[in-house]
Amino acid sequence: MYRVISRKSNLDVAGLHVLRRFFCNVTIPEVSASNRYIHSNQEYKGENQSENGIQEYDIAIVGGGMVGMALACSLASSVLTRKLSVAIIDDNPALTSGSGINKMELLIQESVWDYTGLGYTRYNARDVNKEVLGCVVENKVLLSSLSLCMQEKEFQKTVLPSRLASMAIQSSMSSTKMDSQLAKLELADGTNVAAKLVVGADGGRSRVRELAGFRSTGRKYPQNAIICTVEHSISNHCAWQRFLPAGPIALLPIGENFSNIVWTMSPKESSDRKAMNDEDFVKAVNHALDYGYGPHPQSKSSIDKLFSSFTSDVVSSNESFEVPPNAVKLASDRMVFPLSLVHTDTYAKSRVVLIGDAAHTVHPLAGQGVNLGFGDASALSKVISEGTAVGIDIGQISVLRKYESERKPANYMMATILDGVQKAYSFDLGPLNALRAAAFHGAQYISPLKKNIILYASGEQKLPFFSWR
Ligand SMILES: Cc1cc2nc3c(=O)[nH]c(=O)nc-3n(C[C@H](O)[C@H](O)[C@H](O)COP(=O)(O)OP(=O)(O)OC[C@H]3O[C@@H](n4cnc5c(N)ncnc54)[C@H](O)[C@@H]3O)c2cc1C
Repeated sequence: MYRVISRKSNLDVAGLHVLRRFFCNVTIPEVSASNRYIHSNQEYKGENQSENGIQEYDIAIVGGGMVGMALACSLASSVLTRKLSVAIIDDNPALTSGSGINKMELLIQESVWDYTGLGYTRYNARDVNKEVLGCVVENKVLLSSLSLCMQEKEFQKTVLPSRLASMAIQSSMSSTKMDSQLAKLELADGTNVAAKLVVGADGGRSRVRELAGFRSTGRKYPQNAIICTVEHSISNHCAWQRFLPAGPIALLPIGENFSNIVWTMSPKESSDRKAMNDEDFVKAVNHALDYGYGPHPQSKSSIDKLFSSFTSDVVSSNESFEVPPNAVKLASDRMVFPLSLVHTDTYAKSRVVLIGDAAHTVHPLAGQGVNLGFGDASALSKVISEGTAVGIDIGQISVLRKYESERKPANYMMATILDGVQKAYSFDLGPLNALRAAAFHGAQYISPLKKNIILYASGEQKLPFFSWR
């Protein structure tokens, strides 16, 4: 279970239209998993079949996680791309099993502070004249909604419940154009398929990335994240994040009295906290979100007074610190994830393109990973649509480079910022603490800065180039 803070544009990609202020109930119908191939359109006779029985598709999406499914949904939503034959390859049962009623929570406010008590910033949707800052949605809710979105469309998709085993670029077996090429994929269950374009949406340990020989750079963070759900005695509608010496802890509302926890710490601490009994773990969560490790931010501290001389026209600048609601009970299992930074040098080769975590994996401290992936899905869908409109081969490198040039700078910038924040909190030194506190206060009191941070984090602004407004 993950939290995702989705941008408005992302929700459009996902086909989710959020109208209600706090909760949005999404009813997911059951999808039959009994068929080997699941077609969305009963009339559709399927993809081309070559003489030696290999199915040929326009696009093979390897990985039906949130990002692969967002791409499929986006292709399904456009008249230009709806008629393309698309295979989605993933043996994740979440792809073919529905669930009942799920909830998500729209975010109105977010508070961020640190353990020194010096740094504190609060964001409010009204700072940018909006009703919501974003949305916290569990990944299963997004996946179910994306599946639903595709079922509603006349979309020529086939789900192949298997995993990619090997891949080769080869000459077309059935095409009349002798010079055309197809990528050939062999799946773990022995099925062979071919496609004009292979999209690697298979996550941080991408097999497509490995088989196609994409080079990547990055490092393992000396941190793991524990994620779980907790229950409060009152409802929570605010997101909270506190930077602790070993990493941030976030409390994210998911509806009613429940919140998700994403807590980053050293691998040793994560094993210890996973092994704790439920009661002790809940105590540790409350300790981490309240007085543990240091004092609450003081309003009208000397740094506060210095920055409050900036005239601020945003409502949240005058809102003082509040303590997050206590957790009273653990409401799920605890899961532990190792954290890393990965970025591929290129996103595209002839016939193969990477999106989502397959192209870039970032630190989850700002909840931006899947948002970047949704941006990729949207941009790739657009270039495929443009290519289809003019009748060119969508697997050509010139088409795919357009996607890369739009997304790589934006993803690189976000990965660099998140890595910088992670590094800034890796040290506990007096002067550095004061600098970090100054950054928090700048964000709290300098309204153009605060507005730009909100718009960048919510995806309305592609790059953090600040304009004074
Ligand atoms: C602890 C933690 C907290 C996070 N919190 C947030 C957050 O709050 N907000 C946010 O935006 N992001 C968050 N992220 C990041 C987010 O989870 C990822 O960015 C997102 O899941 C990437 O989606 P994806 O579809 O690219 O990859 P994945 O979600 O990894 O999906 C990949 C899919 O590919 C399939 N697959 C893998 N290999 C193969 C193969 N060989 N053949 C076929 N299929 C294959 C898998 O079964 C899977 O379904 C968090 C990450 C972590 C670790």
